[in-house]
Amino acid sequence: MTDDRVVVALDVGGTGMKCAVVRPDGVVVRAERHPTDAARGPAAVVGTILDVAEGLADKARADGLTPIAVGIAVPGVVDEARGVAVWSANVGFRDVPVRDLAVARLGLPTALGHDVRVGGLAEARLGAGRGSGHVLFVAIGTGIAAAHVVDGTAAVGAHGAAGEIGHILVRPGGPRCGCGRPGCLEAIASAAAIGRRYAELAGQSADAPVTAAEVAEPPVTAAEVAQRAATGEPLAGQVWQEAIDALADGLASGQALFDVATIVLGGGLAQAGDGLLTPLRAAMRERMTFHREPHLVAAALGDEAGCLGAALLALDAVGVRDHQEKR
Ligand SMILES: [Zn+2]
Repeated sequence: MTDDRVVVALDVGGTGMKCAVVRPDGVVVRAERHPTDAARGPAAVVGTILDVAEGLADKARADGLTPIAVGIAVPGVVDEARGVAVWSANVGFRDVPVRDLAVARLGLPTALGHDVRVGGLAEARLGAGRGSGHVLFVAIGTGIAAAHVVDGTAAVGAHGAAGEIGHILVRPGGPRCGCGRPGCLEAIASAAAIGRRYAELAGQSADAPVTAAEVAEPPVTAAEVAQRAATGEPLAGQVWQEAIDALADGLASGQALFDVATIVLGGGLAQAGDGLLTPLRAAMRERMTFHREPHLVAAALGDEAGCLGAALLALDAVGVRDHQEKR
């Protein structure tokens, strides 16, 4: 049986939008990238989102396909039930009714989702968590956020803010987090925090105090810290191990709460591969008492996860959900 149905999917980030036309079986038939250019302000960004979505729907029709729904993922706090982007620092959104605007413009059912939650949806159903049932997807980049996915559905929370694992308190009195509280996981183990910590300690040991600019924009990235740790540089090894220990504390809390089969690590830091996974598995094992140790794996879909997840959300919105079992 041929199926000409497709959905239009957009993953809107602070700098760029990943966009695609996706079939119900998860196959991408067309992919595009567009700049977000958030400095133009939220109204202009919404305008671009709608233009791009409409353009993709038109191109799909020209290819003989039938767009049946639209899925849009944005960062920040997202009220999925009302389809409202409540708050997003990256994109400048505040209470933007993205779903209603898209429905009005395209005349198609539209689902609005949170970027990390839909990324987790995609990893759980099409990627590294496939077949696991209970999955915790943790994206480690500038910040740390998670999605708890059970049988292919990501928990949203009562206020659209579920999964903020980066703000689990792991080091009381520790470095101050962007949220204002000292000692959050994100303040120690995000890629940004790792680079910052290394710059701080390197500055101290070199007797040259680091400048405020270097702390804000670390000259050494987390990936470089991971590399230097792997080659045996003591300072990098120390900073890396501090991050691993904090991550293990945070993930152990996640496991105590959710008892998942698989934890999928995504975001920039997961690109460290075994340099992250091997010590993190060991640190997790030390922290497990009666809880079952989850499989700890790297994400499989890379930066496509958000766009694929937006497509899954769109398919779910119109009740088309046969893809992951059939693949
Ligand atoms: Zn915090």
